Amino acid sequence: MNERTSEGLVALLQDRGYVVVDDEHCAEVILLNTCSVRAQAEAKAIGKANLVCQRQSQRKLIGVLGCMAQRLGKALYQKSPSTRLIVGPNCIEKVPAYLDQLIAHPRERILDIQMRPMDRKLAAAHDENKFQPSAFVSIMQGCNMRCTYCVVPETRGPEQYRPIKDILQEIQRLSAHGTKEVTLLGQIVNHYGIGQMPFRDEKSPFVQLLEEIQGIAGIHRIHFMSPHPAEFRKDLIDAYSRLSKLCPHVHLPLQSGSDSILKAMKRSYNSAQFLSIVQALRQRVPTISISTDIIVGFPGETEEDFQMTCAMFDDIKFDMAFVFKYSMRPGTVAEQLGDQISQEIKDERNQILLEKVKQYSQAYNETMVGQVKEILVEHCAKRGQGQFEGRTPEHKKVIFAAEEALIGQLVQVKIERCATSTLFGKIVEISSHRQA
Ligand code: SF4
Repeated sequence: MNERTSEGLVALLQDRGYVVVDDEHCAEVILLNTCSVRAQAEAKAIGKANLVCQRQSQRKLIGVLGCMAQRLGKALYQKSPSTRLIVGPNCIEKVPAYLDQLIAHPRERILDIQMRPMDRKLAAAHDENKFQPSAFVSIMQGCNMRCTYCVVPETRGPEQYRPIKDILQEIQRLSAHGTKEVTLLGQIVNHYGIGQMPFRDEKSPFVQLLEEIQGIAGIHRIHFMSPHPAEFRKDLIDAYSRLSKLCPHVHLPLQSGSDSILKAMKRSYNSAQFLSIVQALRQRVPTISISTDIIVGFPGETEEDFQMTCAMFDDIKFDMAFVFKYSMRPGTVAEQLGDQISQEIKDERNQILLEKVKQYSQAYNETMVGQVKEILVEHCAKRGQGQFEGRTPEHKKVIFAAEEALIGQLVQVKIERCATSTLFGKIVEISSHRQA
């Protein structure tokens, strides 16, 4: 979400005449778009802001944006005294005007953490100088859930949905610029429009949106992130049988395999319901890739609770997972429970799950070896030397030899070998419908 907002802000800044530079040492203005989900993310952002200030040979204008700015507000001036601009996630569209003001008045500071309605221009803005084979499209912001560990509803406010017309126009524009894949973003992406837009033929506003995107020529692939299991209903599960562009990959946050911990987290589903979604998805698409988020060490998590998470992991065999050690966040309901689980136990549980991720990810990737997969060529691989990187429809990274002209094209790649997080192959064909 932050990456997408930063990209929109870059577009607004460029419109106003600002130039983005690759090297922070050359920058006159440095903006840090921050996250508050875990304490470590905040510590890193404050460390970075202070490091930039210490290193500067000439005075730079430092701004801190996003959720940490919202959460800490004025207190950030104490933690990072050189910061002159503090802007919450609901005021990012104001940043270009604030920069003009701060440049004209070098002694001023600006703090804006108001909760404003979502800015339609910022939400739709993309960096036109950047070719994006695959693009993020934010469809909503905020969250109405109250998971007891989470600070997001406080920092981003209640859910706000973009009009369907705006989203479709944005995707059409991206398609006209060569984008072939879109990832729809939202804190609970499948909650899009609920309570504000009607269901039609028992289809949620989110499924209706997917159907509309399916009809956009030039877009070949649709992903979304992150859905909430409690809102993952039959209409969305059925969409996997009907919508050919909907990619066979779902990132479905489980958080814990223990029903009592899910209840304490206020996650509003239980392990059996989660399992039935996975089974229904696999009935529609047997090879679907399913990834997840897990928190280990939530207050009160016993060894038995953790074993239930392990059992869910072994049952579902998630082929990718982000495993987080619980981080107590100020102002959340869970804060009152204290940080009950020792760091040592959190580390141990984290390690056990990471081993499982490796094992199941490797096993899933091995099923692809020998297959020919359609890959969207995204960019040069870090390893260089004529190697390029793209993704399968299941969102698996693939490295292969190619040439610059193929960036943005769909190619058929025979997978020859795999590692835990990467596949390796060679192009056997350039897809014939690449210009569709
Ligand atoms: S669904 Fe829960 S974890 Fe996700 S953003 Fe909302 S409150 Fe946070």
